[in-house]
Amino acid sequence: MADKRIQIVRQGNREVCRENYFRIESEKDLLYFTFDGLENTGIVKHCFSSRLGGVSKEHLGTMNLSYTRGDEQENVDENYRRIARVLGCQTDDIVCSDQTHTTNVRKVTTKDKGKGVITSRDYSDIDGLITNEPGVVLATFYADCVPLFIVDPVHRAIGLSHSGWRGTVNRMGAVTLQGMEREYGTRPEDVQVAIGPSICQACYEVSRDVAEAFREAFPLQRENKKLLYQKNEEKFQLNLWYANECVFREAGVPKEQIEVTDICTCCNSDILFSHRASKGMRGNLGAFLMLK
Ligand SMILES: [Zn+2]
Repeated sequence: MADKRIQIVRQGNREVCRENYFRIESEKDLLYFTFDGLENTGIVKHCFSSRLGGVSKEHLGTMNLSYTRGDEQENVDENYRRIARVLGCQTDDIVCSDQTHTTNVRKVTTKDKGKGVITSRDYSDIDGLITNEPGVVLATFYADCVPLFIVDPVHRAIGLSHSGWRGTVNRMGAVTLQGMEREYGTRPEDVQVAIGPSICQACYEVSRDVAEAFREAFPLQRENKKLLYQKNEEKFQLNLWYANECVFREAGVPKEQIEVTDICTCCNSDILFSHRASKGMRGNLGAFLMLK
């Protein structure tokens, strides 16, 4: 399998290097990822954070965006301020998910700004966020699971969803699109999608029951080694990137409007948080998406 290590070559303070769809950028030491396809819609700001550029220590070092993994609150507050600077917003513009591996999608508005960062959330079990209001920054969190960014330039609406194996087998990408269709009239053929940094197939070993769940949920890909590679009687390697791409294709999103990551959190656990690589001793990465 291809090497998923990122080769970072520093070139001043801005663009560091480029692989496929990605732009890896930095503001001083704060390294983050963007997708050209999302940028090119001209209507959003977005980023996916790395471990670099924050103030947290040790296994949470340095850009941890979780308040519930043992970090000092003031460290996390400062990390959010730095991310907000990259996005050109304030920390109280950010609205956070409450991820529990569901396919629950919540429509959020200006009234929800700050929830999960400045104020507590008045909702729970929310793995996807949608909005059509400019300036509302959607935020979801990661350490191997898959971030799904959706931009509808026609109806000026956005969605951002967390999709681990449970979310993927339950087609979180399609569920998020359905929420956008219901609320904003979004059509799958119009959207630009990005499937962000997360665990690669080589690193993602799953047991037979998970493999069977995917075979059932993706009958067209049942025997496709690109989706599931059988290592031995009990162990399989699952490709969450490809599975999520299949979800969007089957929902009607044209292939050329889907950007798929080639950056693995686990292969790059020195600069990205990986639950597997760290055996759970890790902070949270963040995905952020807002309408200008
Ligand atoms: Zn990997």
